[in-house]
Amino acid sequence: MSRHVFITGASRGIGRGIAQAFFDLGDNVAAVDRRGLGPGIVDRRVAALAADITDAAQVDAAFERAEAQFGKVDVLVANAGVVKDRPLARLADQDFADVVGTNLTGTFRCVRRAARSMMARRSGAIILIGSVVGAVGGVGQANYAASKAALVGLARAVARELGPRGITANVVAPGFIETDMTDGLPEPVRRGHLAQIPAGRFGSAHDVAGAATFLASAPYVNGAVIPVDGGLGMGH
Ligand code: NDP
Repeated sequence: MSRHVFITGASRGIGRGIAQAFFDLGDNVAAVDRRGLGPGIVDRRVAALAADITDAAQVDAAFERAEAQFGKVDVLVANAGVVKDRPLARLADQDFADVVGTNLTGTFRCVRRAARSMMARRSGAIILIGSVVGAVGGVGQANYAASKAALVGLARAVARELGPRGITANVVAPGFIETDMTDGLPEPVRRGHLAQIPAGRFGSAHDVAGAATFLASAPYVNGAVIPVDGGLGMGH
């Protein structure tokens, strides 16, 4: 049976890789980004939806459209996220609010809406894409680190609340993954990161997708943080 997998931030990078992986497993994929670009797969099992997760009405409308096409959501992958790195002294209130508003509050909105469908059916998997930075910090990333650390608390609260209803909530915590988000970093910074990764390479969207598809089929894994970082965070 094909599942209905709802993925935010699926137009590029990690989200696109996750969408491809679920599609390859035979699932139906609702792919969300702000422009409705979709994950680059043209198939009746893929819906490309435009929604900004900072807007509650747009989130609700995207879920309505996806459920009209594929039925209730079985798996949520809340992946959409942004960075606005600044040294602490120059981190404006708006920079903090923007990053938390997307990465944490936007994710919360998707979780709440997906849970509604899952509770009715007493099954479901909620997968949040966090970051190793949420556990170990990052220079100039107070806003981003705070938003990603908070996702662990969000997932664990939901795991306790909805576990009895057959719903899991887990976090995947990627390390340094080659995407648009990291492409812009200066070469010395990239070299510095690489030196700290025991695997000796940066990760790919495919690496992260493996953890997401695993969690979607692991009903006894709940409230966990799964690092996908080549050893950078040593299990944290
Ligand atoms: P990208 O910047 O490559 O892609 C981000 C995706 O999120 C795009 O599809 C973007 O689409 C979408 N998006 C951003 N804001 C919104 C919004 N408000 N509403 C809906 N969609 C939105 O990022 P990555 O693929 O690198 O990262 C994906 C996730 O993984 C993020 O949560 C990131 O924090 C996390 N992560 C990334 C790591 C890395 O090294 N790359 C490491 C650890 C975690 P559009 O702009 O068209 O709306």
